[in-house]
Amino acid sequence: MVDEDLLGKGYDPIALASVVRPKVSEIINGEEYRRYFRFRGGRWYGGIATGDVIGCNLRCGFCWAWYFRDDYTRGELLSPRDSWRRLYRIASKRRYKLVRLSGGEPTLTRDHVLKVAELARRAGMVFVLETNGILIGNDRSYARDLAELGNVFVRVSFKGVTPQEFFRLTGARPEFFELQFQALRNLISEGMEPGKEVIAAAMISFSDDEDIARFVLKLTEIDERLARVDWEVVFMYPHVKEVLRRSGLKPKRFVNPEKIPDEMV
Ligand code: SF4
Repeated sequence: MVDEDLLGKGYDPIALASVVRPKVSEIINGEEYRRYFRFRGGRWYGGIATGDVIGCNLRCGFCWAWYFRDDYTRGELLSPRDSWRRLYRIASKRRYKLVRLSGGEPTLTRDHVLKVAELARRAGMVFVLETNGILIGNDRSYARDLAELGNVFVRVSFKGVTPQEFFRLTGARPEFFELQFQALRNLISEGMEPGKEVIAAAMISFSDDEDIARFVLKLTEIDERLARVDWEVVFMYPHVKEVLRRSGLKPKRFVNPEKIPDEMV
């Protein structure tokens, strides 16, 4: 249920995607270029090359990428092939089998994402798409295009576990929370295997225990294999503390980065 007094407030993240897209992409010689902040390697997923894109259709008050997310003058505008080359260079040097797009919201530039994933497929690599899922939930054909590639793993990251919390964390209208569930339904309906090719993740730093339990129940109503959720909590790096201070959000659960063992960094 959505609180009546929240309805009608907040922004529309589909409309915001249309506003942000032209600021972070360009069609050059028929190809969709996307603005990137940086490329990096890392130990997530057991070792993965990552391209962090600029631009998002949400405005999460805990966003670790806030310092580059909306800065449309930073970074570089790259073709899918240029992006792939950078990912591949990192992956081959470090013997990774996975590449991903992360940072802001990769799905804003559909052709670009699909082409990078296709290049990864040709190289025999898995392409991990980290997304808030809103655009995939809004358009089933997007899910179809991703599923058809056969090498894509989609991690749909929920912003909170209820519509009210989604509104509080993102500022987007609460009814759009449902599109994150719809993204999972669309991907599964198009043939992606829950728990293996598509998973749910959720930011629970600000969530009540009971709401978390109800959220898992809702996921299992879609498919029992979605019960294994990738739980997210904020890492209290200085730039995250700063964005939390600005948004006024107070986490109930968080990780102190100073306590992470060296071998995990
Ligand atoms: S969806 Fe991700 S990138 Fe976008 S504002 Fe939220 S945390 Fe940041």
